[in-house]
Order: sequence, then structure tokens, then C-alpha cells
Amino acid sequence: MTVLVVEHSRVQQLIIKAMLREYKLDSLVVDSYEKALSEIRSREYHAILCASRLPDGKGIELAKQANVSQGKELLFVLLTTEDTREFLNEAIANGVSRVISRKDAYALQNIIKELVDSDDDAMAAIGHVLLIEDNRTMVQLITAMMKVSGSTCDSCADGNEAIAWMERESFDLVITDYYLEGDLTGLDVVRKIRSMPDEKQQIPILVMSGESSVEKRVEVLVAGANDYLIKPIVEQELRARAGNLIKQKKLLDRVIRQQNRLKELAMTDQLTGLYNRHFLTQMVPGKLAEAHRHGFDLSLMVIDIDHFKAINDNHGHEVGDRVLKAVAELLQTNCREEDMAIRLGGEEFLFILPYCSPAAAKEKAEDFRQKLEALMPCKLKVTASFGVTSLEKGQKKPFLELFNAADQAVYEAKNSGRNKVIYHSLS
Ligand code: GH3
Ligand code: MG
Ligand code: MG
Ligand code: MG
Repeated sequence: MTVLVVEHSRVQQLIIKAMLREYKLDSLVVDSYEKALSEIRSREYHAILCASRLPDGKGIELAKQANVSQGKELLFVLLTTEDTREFLNEAIANGVSRVISRKDAYALQNIIKELVDSDDDAMAAIGHVLLIEDNRTMVQLITAMMKVSGSTCDSCADGNEAIAWMERESFDLVITDYYLEGDLTGLDVVRKIRSMPDEKQQIPILVMSGESSVEKRVEVLVAGANDYLIKPIVEQELRARAGNLIKQKKLLDRVIRQQNRLKELAMTDQLTGLYNRHFLTQMVPGKLAEAHRHGFDLSLMVIDIDHFKAINDNHGHEVGDRVLKAVAELLQTNCREEDMAIRLGGEEFLFILPYCSPAAAKEKAEDFRQKLEALMPCKLKVTASFGVTSLEKGQKKPFLELFNAADQAVYEAKNSGRNKVIYHSLS
């Protein structure tokens, strides 16, 4: 499945590309209407993610053109800042399938997830195969046979090399010969793969051998191979057996994806997409223990929006929700990958910052404070009070003690005028 991204902003391009990569989708990025037009006229795309305004044209116009030249299954997503009824009607009338806010990374991610789940290719018996075979002629033969089914092969003659390759790259199937170059046999390779970490060990393995003895076959299957082929290879049999295994792998991938998604849903807050309290109780104690064990600093920041009730009272709950979303996004986009942003509830947020010293945490809170003050979500001036504390290298404290220190600091910030950062040290 290939996705065409039509976007002029470099930053937006990077964000979208990273997301697509995360879900293993191929993408092509173009930055103008003209380039996009020539792309959609020359090849087929499954989905187009397109900015509403391009330097030389409009996203809606491109949707119209795309619906003419592309198949009817096309998903056309328009990224925009406009949300008037007229605009939405015009978009839909011109074949736009979905309209999402340019700033709503969470909505974009959901669309990409849906795209992956609806991907029929992903379920087909076509895959990326690692072939371990020391006979050059056999490599060529099997590669050609697999190519007929649409699969691609990478090959090597040595078991250790194959394992190293698997650690770097992901494959859908391993086909290995029994006797190989180097000191590993196909049987050793099976055993090594089955003891690899995480999901890698679950890859299907097909073993080939010239020996037809029952003992050999049983030995290989008991070690964890999924199937066995006796040489000489019969093309139809190879393709049928390999195809079954690839399909099995793809089903497994889908199940793992869905499981991850469920886990994610259970641990994220619906409104903001940040982690929720459930995440806090499940994951944070482990993080603290890790900081203690490996001797790194870990800081905690509690953030409480100032006079938020007044925003609801004066502008309505819906505006309140939009402000919350905007604040959450600001916080999320300004933290590192290992930082954890949690919505505690209402207008209160908690940040867990691993590898972050007291000085760095204070600086970060101050940076957040200033950025938030300048944000003006829904054209409103919004500020917050920040409470910060740190677990310093080697310290061991229960989570509640840290949280109370940061919460107390927020309380002080509130009482001394709000819109400020207060640090409480633990000792
Ligand atoms: P302070 O500066 O002292 O923190 O004042 P505050 O008004 O921010 O604090 P308070 O705790 O009195 O009010 C929080 C408000 O947040 C009350 C509640 O209605 C509102 N709130 C909680 N959850 C949500 C939500 O999901 N959406 C919206 N719009 N409002 C919420
Ligand atoms: Mg051999
Ligand atoms: Mg509060
Ligand atoms: Mg508040």
C-alpha cells in the first residue's frame, strides 16, 4: 500500500512521514499541486493525505482530479484549518473522504491505523522472505519461484549472517536449507530464531533438505520449524507452503497490532490522546524502580491550568475541551520520546521525565509556562501553575511521595499568584 502525501510545510511532512513509517506504510511526499497532479495521473495510490492550501493550488481541486484518475476505493484525507459548514460541504462534494484539522495529530494517527487495518494487501500471501541457502543455483531458482507469487527474497549462505540480518530487518518468512556454509545447520538456525527476543522469534520457518528421513523431519519440526520441504523442490508445492506461512504471519501481525491498539486505548485519554490514570498505576511504579536501579535522575511535573472553570463558565464546555486539547498538544509536542505525558483528570496533567535533572526539569517547566502563555488557544489567554520535583540519582522513594511534593508545589504556585513554576526538593 502506498500513500501520497501532498504537503508544503517541512515540519508537517516530517510528522506525517514518521507516522506512516511507524505503521510500515510506503509513502511519497510532494510539496505542490502540480507535482501531486502528475503523480496521481501516472500511478495508483491507496490513500492521499493532502494539505488544503498548497502554494499553487487547492486540496479540494486535487481531490476532484484524483477521483477522476484514481480507483474508486481511494481514501482522500484533507488536512485543513477551516471548519465552516460551506467548506466541509464543498470538500465532500468534490470527493474528499475525510477532513481533519492540521493540528490534530491524534485524528491523523487514527486514520492511518484504519488504513492499515483495511489493507487487503497486508493479508495477501505476499511477503519479504529471508532465504538461507548455500547453493547459488538454488538461490536463483527459489527467488524466481517466489517472485511469481509476488514475494521478494534476500539471501545468504551462512546461518550466523542470517540471524544478524533478522535482527536488523523484518521478514515475513524464513526459508532455510538444512546444510549450510559456516558452523550452523538449518536446525541450529531454527533453534536460534526461536530463542530471539520479542516478536522476532515468531517468524514462520520453512526448512528444506535433500534428506527425506522421518527422524530429520521430526527433529526440525520439534525444534520449532513450521514446515518441511524435500528437495528437489517442486515449484507449486514451495509456493503453496510458503504462501500459507506468509498468510499466517500476516494474521499474527494483525492480531499483535490490534492488541497493541487495545492496550493503547485503555491507557489513553479520549479527549487529548495523552496517557490516562490507568497508565499511571500500571507503568509509572516500574519507571521509578528503573530510575533507581540504573541510577538516573527522574523528574516529575504536575501542571494545573489556572482558572479553567472560568473558561468553561464564560465560553462553554466545548471551548473548554478545545483548550484542553490544545494545551495537551503543546505539552506533547514539546517533550522527548521517553517523557510520559498523562492527563490526571480535568485540567490537571502529570509529566514523568526520565533522565531529567532538577535543573533541567525546572528549565523545562519554565519553557512550558512561557509557551503556554503565548499559545492563545481559541484566542484565550491560558496559563498554568507548575509543580516540579525530582528523584535524584540513587534515591529511592515511593511514587506517592514524589507526587505529593509536586502537588504541594502546585498548590504554592496557585497561592502565590499562579502562572509560575515552583520546585520542591524531596529531602
Ligand atoms: P485554579 O486556578 O485554582 O486551578 O482554578 P480552576 O478553575 O482551574 O480549578 P477548579 O479545580 O476549580 O476547576 C476545574 C474545572 O475543570 C472544573 C471542571 O468543570 C472543569 N473540567 C474538568 N474536566 C473537564 C473536561 O473534560 N472538559 C471541560 N471543558 N472542563 C472540564
Ligand atoms: Mg546446502
Ligand atoms: Mg485543578
Ligand atoms: Mg485549575
